[in-house]
Amino acid sequence: MKTESLNIVWLKRDIRTQDHEPLLRAEREEIPYRIIYLFEPSIIEYPDTSPRHLQFIYHSILTLNKTLSPFNRQIEVFYGEASDVFEHLKFHFDIKKIFSYQESGNRITWERDKIISVFCKNWDIQWIQSQRDGIIRGIKNRTDWNKHWHKVMHRPIIQNNYSISELNPLEHPFTLPEKLINNLEEYSILFQPPGEQNAWRYLKSFAAQRGFKYQKNISKPLESRTSCSRLSPYLAWGNLSVKQAFQFIGAHPNGKQNDRAFSAMLTRLHWHCHFIQKFEVECDYETVCINRGYELLIHSKNERFIEAWKTGTTGYPLVDACMRAVIQTGWINFRMRAMLVSFLTLNLDQDWREGTYHLAQQFLDYEPGIHYPQFQMQAGTTGINTVRLYNPVKNSQEYCPDGVFIKKWVPELSNVPLEHIHEPWKMTTMEQAFCDVIIGDDYPKPIVELKESAKLARDKIWGHKKHPAVQAEKKRLLNTHVNRINNELQEKRNSRT
Ligand SMILES: Cc1cc2nc3c(=O)[nH]c(=O)nc-3n(C[C@H](O)[C@H](O)[C@H](O)COP(=O)(O)OP(=O)(O)OC[C@H]3O[C@@H](n4cnc5c(N)ncnc54)[C@H](O)[C@@H]3O)c2cc1C
Repeated sequence: MKTESLNIVWLKRDIRTQDHEPLLRAEREEIPYRIIYLFEPSIIEYPDTSPRHLQFIYHSILTLNKTLSPFNRQIEVFYGEASDVFEHLKFHFDIKKIFSYQESGNRITWERDKIISVFCKNWDIQWIQSQRDGIIRGIKNRTDWNKHWHKVMHRPIIQNNYSISELNPLEHPFTLPEKLINNLEEYSILFQPPGEQNAWRYLKSFAAQRGFKYQKNISKPLESRTSCSRLSPYLAWGNLSVKQAFQFIGAHPNGKQNDRAFSAMLTRLHWHCHFIQKFEVECDYETVCINRGYELLIHSKNERFIEAWKTGTTGYPLVDACMRAVIQTGWINFRMRAMLVSFLTLNLDQDWREGTYHLAQQFLDYEPGIHYPQFQMQAGTTGINTVRLYNPVKNSQEYCPDGVFIKKWVPELSNVPLEHIHEPWKMTTMEQAFCDVIIGDDYPKPIVELKESAKLARDKIWGHKKHPAVQAEKKRLLNTHVNRINNELQEKRNSRT
């Protein structure tokens, strides 16, 4: 059966044509190569995945195909488990090498990669996995990681060139089911447009002007939508490498006049990789408390609270506006994400695991390596970070003083006067009637009392910090991430070099 020798480039979270090491390596080989992407049923069905992720991937692939078509190349898409697809390919071709990036995903992708690794060993196929964005596989601590990362960020950008392929598109039984294709074809205009070209458009417009007020607006739910880089989905799905973004911003002529803003953004690119590196070492952070001592804390599950949080009907206007905005658009800024988590886990006293998959599905930029550690930091289960309680009323007054963002996403409150927009339940019945909203009827009353719930949360989380199990875990964590604090100081100095 086997006739042709073939190499494979397996795209994962690296859907781009430039600064792409696996594609470069495949081009250098004498054997022809095919580029594949796998829509794996087990991953599609996993609770962190949502149609918007798959749609972003699918449309990114379509744009890539346009770029590659002059070279008679395209991304060949399969619907099937990786092991079945590779088994099929191996049966029909003499596969010599598979090129891909290392994936720092959650347990399900980690386990899948272990199976593929065994498969490759059994069949004498070389699987060459390139390092992604300076993330090192399997390190025990952070000694020198920071230095390594900066070295990687300063390496030359890979200029990928493509030879013209003589292969015809492959016929195979792993075609996408029609129902799935119909779903993938859809794409809400409220989501950021996918693909490599759009990634560059966002990067360039940030450096050209949007980023000048980056720091001033970073926490404001409305203004941050234009002032932040909005690179996150492109970095998460690899339409852009972190190195491409780092070098472009670092060398941009506007950097001189916007030094603080651009440096702050570069620092966050470092955080991006720092968090993924953490997760790479312990992907159990998806389901287990970073500080295992917090597993001893009891939360009584309240379905009504969880549902209100998920649907943006808690009665706290900023919380609800943020949740509804992220459901509709796939993005909100860092502070608002942190506030949502703080509200669920501290004010509503719900286990952090009740919210992780919901937000993972909503975020167009879902990146397991950032999502779970960040979620746990805000929920206070790391035992090494200061726990912050975000008061949704204070945050509303400070970061959304004109109420425009709230009124956009919570239209029930669109006629509420400014003096009541942050706490509409304080209006008298007469005032409510004047602005066409009856609190408790058209818009919910607050589901918890803020002061009381904050005090309970503080006592519970802060009190638990002293528990011997938390203290013992803290030591273990500091040993693993011992160099973090030093690295962060160093990183601040290096970030604009
Ligand atoms: C609970 C929670 C969950 C989160 N989940 C994700 C996630 O799944 N994917 C994701 O990319 N970010 C996540 N973040 C981090 C952050 O909110 C987003 O990266 C940021 O809002 C993306 O917008 P931007 O691209 O305009 O960022 P910018 O502020 O312009 O920053 C540039 C890039 O730096 C990285 N970055 C920025 N802030 C952080 C941060 N605090 N930690 C790590 N990296 C950062 C991102 O890659 C971002 O694209 C989460 C934060 C919280 C509190």
